[in-house]
Amino acid sequence: MLSQVVELIENKSNFAITTHIKPDGDGVGSSLGLCWLLRSLGKNAEVVINGNIPQAYTSLPGADQIKDVTSVNGKYDAVFVIECSDLERPGIEGLENQVTVNIDHHATSEHFGTINWIDSTASAVGEMIYNLCKAIGGRITQEIAECVYMALVTDTGSFHFSNTSDRTLKVASELVKAGAKPSKISEAVYNNYNWSRIELMRQVLATVKRDASGRIATMRQTLEMRQLSGAVDGDNNGFVNIPLAARDIQAVIYMREVGPNQYRASLRSKGTVNVAKVAEKFGGGGHKNASGLSIDGDWDEAEARIVAALAKAIDAIQ
Ligand code: 5GP
Repeated sequence: MLSQVVELIENKSNFAITTHIKPDGDGVGSSLGLCWLLRSLGKNAEVVINGNIPQAYTSLPGADQIKDVTSVNGKYDAVFVIECSDLERPGIEGLENQVTVNIDHHATSEHFGTINWIDSTASAVGEMIYNLCKAIGGRITQEIAECVYMALVTDTGSFHFSNTSDRTLKVASELVKAGAKPSKISEAVYNNYNWSRIELMRQVLATVKRDASGRIATMRQTLEMRQLSGAVDGDNNGFVNIPLAARDIQAVIYMREVGPNQYRASLRSKGTVNVAKVAEKFGGGGHKNASGLSIDGDWDEAEARIVAALAKAIDAIQ
């Protein structure tokens, strides 16, 4: 819980921070925001992530100092693990031998840390980093403000997803007061893609269909589409939300081929349709309106199974 995190930071000096592989804006923004907070308190801190971070986040302060690692050794007092359901998600060896602090806003977290601070009411871990800063008596520096604002903007879909609360907006306001520039950060996220995004979007949108009831949209991305468009990780950010723009669509399934008969699926919904519960049935997880899962087998059959589970969830609330 928060008080344990505060106590640990007050009593120790050397920290690493990591997040999940293929990090999103909350993962990168919260990790860097926490790093700047720890440094402002006179601590040694570094962000270590397996792999490159997406282009959209490379202009954040400190992004150029992020270390690309596949393992950590024993030199830290503790490693903060941001937005990860389990200790395997960062893809970093040696974490199991560290004191770990699990900071997450997913209710489905496995509480794998030595310390676990989970707040499923927070719109983003970024909101929690802001709360940590306040709890420890820190100052919101320009660097913290920019990184945490990035976390908020990306995890709330620019403050229009259902996780946006009065607290989220209050925190965002404080971050802007402390120097975050909303237009600069939105430009970096939304108008900063390669042309390959447009190529990939064209191909993926060509696959959009509705189920017989007209409430569920499905969309596919093959490995070939990725190759033909020259897409890189992150080029398909937000595609899954596009069909939600249709009034009658209540849920979307966006399936990506990741290997022979292997798929990743992103689920999105409107209102009270709980896609986290649906994803959990397939071994995945996430939030009420945004979840994901992995599934194997024949594509049509796998998609039909998810559509059926979603239809059942929608029927149950009507
Ligand atoms: P996305 O569709 O953007 O990959 O994921 C949406 C949400 O669901 C994110 O909050 C993400 O952490 C969560 N999520 C996606 N895939 C999985 C999964 O396989 N397992 C769990 N537990 N959560 C997932």
